[in-house]
Amino acid sequence: LIRLEKVNKHFGSNHVLRDVDLEVHTGETIVLLGASGSGKSTLCRCVNRLETIDSGRITLAGEPLPEEGRKLARLRARMGMVFQSFNLFSHLSVRDNLTLAPVRVGGRSRTEAAERAGELLARVGLADKADAYPAQLSGGQQQRVAIARALAMDPEVLLFDEPTSALDPEMVGEVLDVMAALAADGMTMLVVTHEMGFARRVADRVVFLDSGRITETATPDRFFDAPRTDRARDFLSKVL
Ligand code: ATP
Ligand code: MG
Repeated sequence: LIRLEKVNKHFGSNHVLRDVDLEVHTGETIVLLGASGSGKSTLCRCVNRLETIDSGRITLAGEPLPEEGRKLARLRARMGMVFQSFNLFSHLSVRDNLTLAPVRVGGRSRTEAAERAGELLARVGLADKADAYPAQLSGGQQQRVAIARALAMDPEVLLFDEPTSALDPEMVGEVLDVMAALAADGMTMLVVTHEMGFARRVADRVVFLDSGRITETATPDRFFDAPRTDRARDFLSKVL
């Protein structure tokens, strides 16, 4: 569904992504692991075209990512993105956070979008919070709203960049549970996380980035039990 071919990205003289080849198949959950600064966020941002690439090719369902304008907005609608900080609109109710894009960009009617918002909130366990404002919710609840909002445009793929890193430990599980349920439902997901238990349980494949280069791609069992490179072994010894 998403294919990266020989993708390179620099920030000035810093070569952040090096000849990255990666394919995310429909229905697959890929967990992207790597040390801080290895390029995980940059890779996600390039896929969503929040960053441009210097060379190589990224395609979604066989089509190259559009450069700008309405085509780019449509592309973004096909990919939901969930960040570490929840990025909800604080002046809007939970329901309005979920209906804004479908109404403005997706051309849905208000009624239709509100109905769908209700379904999505139920799916993330927050059916009773439609009228609440983000500030009235816990971090875990806000992140679940952010996931529901990402789903509201019916994306073909969800990108997660450390969705639980900003949460208090007791709230991490509720967010990971929602993500695991989405994966089980067949959602296509690219997930950056330091939650190794999630990676092991939910990932179809683990991809390890080392200084901008993919050095291992393996099933979670294989990666965790028998990492092939010293860098991956070293990484695991620090995070496990
Ligand atoms: P972390 O685990 O800390 O989130 P990461 O793997 O997500 O790390 P990136 O944020 O992708 O790493 O950063 C990769 C490299 O690119 C780092 O050296 C970082 O300093 C650099 N970098 C990232 N974003 C920018 C930017 N907007 N401008 C300049 N350099 C950047
Ligand atoms: Mg990052």
